[in-house]
Amino acid sequence: VTGSEVGRTTVKRASERGRYDMAAITSILAAGLIAHVGVIASDGTPVVIPMGYALDGESVLIHGSVASRLMRAKSQVCVTVTILDGLVVARSLFNSSMNYRSVVVLGVPEVLVGDAKLAALLRLSDALLPGRVGHARAPSEQEVRATTVWRLPLDEASAKVRTGPPIDEEEDLDLPYWAGVIPLRMLCGEPERDEACTDRAVPDDVRAVTANINLRGGFRREL
Ligand SMILES: Cc1cc2nc3c(=O)[nH]c(=O)nc-3n(C[C@H](O)[C@H](O)[C@H](O)COP(=O)(O)OP(=O)(O)OC[C@H]3O[C@@H](n4cnc5c(N)ncnc54)[C@H](O)[C@@H]3O)c2cc1C
Repeated sequence: VTGSEVGRTTVKRASERGRYDMAAITSILAAGLIAHVGVIASDGTPVVIPMGYALDGESVLIHGSVASRLMRAKSQVCVTVTILDGLVVARSLFNSSMNYRSVVVLGVPEVLVGDAKLAALLRLSDALLPGRVGHARAPSEQEVRATTVWRLPLDEASAKVRTGPPIDEEEDLDLPYWAGVIPLRMLCGEPERDEACTDRAVPDDVRAVTANINLRGGFRREL
């Protein structure tokens, strides 16, 4: 339990969909690619910015330019990850919905330095392009210096999950409208070669990236 069940991350609407155990939270974070990172900027403006992220043990890692307004914020942040699993088509518009898995993490991030920062950057690469480390140039000292890396522990985190068919009103069940779920999945297309790349064949490590992402998105490896 993350300790969030009774805190400011308690799910209120449809509270039965709330999950607070670490396994539920980390399994969702392991499946996603994009986080929406919210901060209050120094001028008081709330900003929510999309960013890649990595799950690392019981923490989330975020990286960005040292010059970025977001990465310079030294305050509470909110990191939200959403995976859309389906459109729920009910007999009424009101009860139509979405199937999803989402996580909200609150806290003050630790800014990583030294070996921990480099390890976190490699972990981020591996989360966003699984298996690519070792098949591309490693970051230079200058590139590491130009990047800020945050570690945000999952101490204050909640998940919310909706699965299953539409939940229609009893009196709507006989209406002559179709009802069900339209599944949605994250899926890699065929890799498109950069024009300046002389290697025409898609290498195994790039095939492995697509296979890994497709598995995360719920597709079998051979797709
Ligand atoms: C899928 C995805 C993954 C990304 N991953 C990363 C990542 O891992 N690390 C990283 O640093 N950046 C990432 N970005 C880029 C990120 O969203 C920001 O654009 C970038 O960090 C902005 O930094 P900034 O300091 O220029 O702008 P900020 O000072 O943060 O923003 C200034 C203003 O620019 C506008 N703005 C900024 N970004 C966006 C945007 N994405 N869309 C529309 N308006 C915007 C907003 O109005 C904002 O108030 C990602 C973007 C996407 C869409």
